[in-house]
Amino acid sequence: MYKRQAETGRFAPSPSGQLHMGNLAACLLAWLDARSTGGRLIFRMEDLDPERSSKENEQSISRTLKALGLDWDEGYPNAGYSQSGRSEKYDEVFELLLHRDLLYPCYCSRSERLAASAPHPGEPRHDPGCKCRYLTALGRRELEQSGRRAAWKIKVPEKAIRFCDGHYGEFSENLADSGDFIIKRSDGVYAYQLAVSFDDMDMGISRVVRGRDLLSSTARQIWLIQTLGGSIPQYYHAPLIVGTDGRKLSKRYGELGAEAMLQKHSPEEIIGRLAGLLGISGGKPESAAELLGHFDWGKVEKNNILI
Ligand code: GLU
Repeated sequence: MYKRQAETGRFAPSPSGQLHMGNLAACLLAWLDARSTGGRLIFRMEDLDPERSSKENEQSISRTLKALGLDWDEGYPNAGYSQSGRSEKYDEVFELLLHRDLLYPCYCSRSERLAASAPHPGEPRHDPGCKCRYLTALGRRELEQSGRRAAWKIKVPEKAIRFCDGHYGEFSENLADSGDFIIKRSDGVYAYQLAVSFDDMDMGISRVVRGRDLLSSTARQIWLIQTLGGSIPQYYHAPLIVGTDGRKLSKRYGELGAEAMLQKHSPEEIIGRLAGLLGISGGKPESAAELLGHFDWGKVEKNNILI
């Protein structure tokens, strides 16, 4: 009999802050998912946006994962696993898409700034007023001459993408509903959607575990991977941990930041609390390795979790 190839999962944090209860929940689930299937884990640093990333945050994230016993097999800090160092690979993908006439320059600037980061709830996904796809060569030249620098968008077809999320079930989304999207900003920084799709494919990721706010990006990523000829991972989205104001946790919640928590609590207390919030245990202190013994996606909460 052929040996079944091991599953490959990933941690893919953005170093725009330290870890907190929200993104730690996704890391814990990614780790439990990979280890419970006997799989490997890759740690990829999503530092595309130079303005929002820092080396201190990278080190803090790496320290926290280690302190909590969430180990990985391959990746950061080795070369090739930080998105900022992968632009030559993205250039090749860009050329390929350009050659296939799937790209066009866009001179609007509304949603551009955020394109390098994973979209969070409430942030603009596309600009419905954009008509750049239909500009003539002359129209483009005039805009260029007036000093406007273009971002690059990809033309999406009228096409329904169906997928089954391992935790939330069946989804179907017509790509045209969210419209063409940016794959490269006008300052040359590649956008999250392009980088994440290509990296998941290039790194052989077979299971993507991440926060539920990225469910709405999944159809576009599946389509990009299909377009590039890669195999589609199995997606598992995790409930979000939200503040009492209903908003996703972020750096605003200082006391729920991993560094502050590790000063006051043991790794087992933090893992136990997270597991309790996620519904996978009663919340008693326990190590990640102990939790693995009774992990089951069926127990994971589906609603967002208020903290
Ligand atoms: N880098 C993204 C974030 O930290 C996660 C992207 C993903 O898992 O696809 O929000």
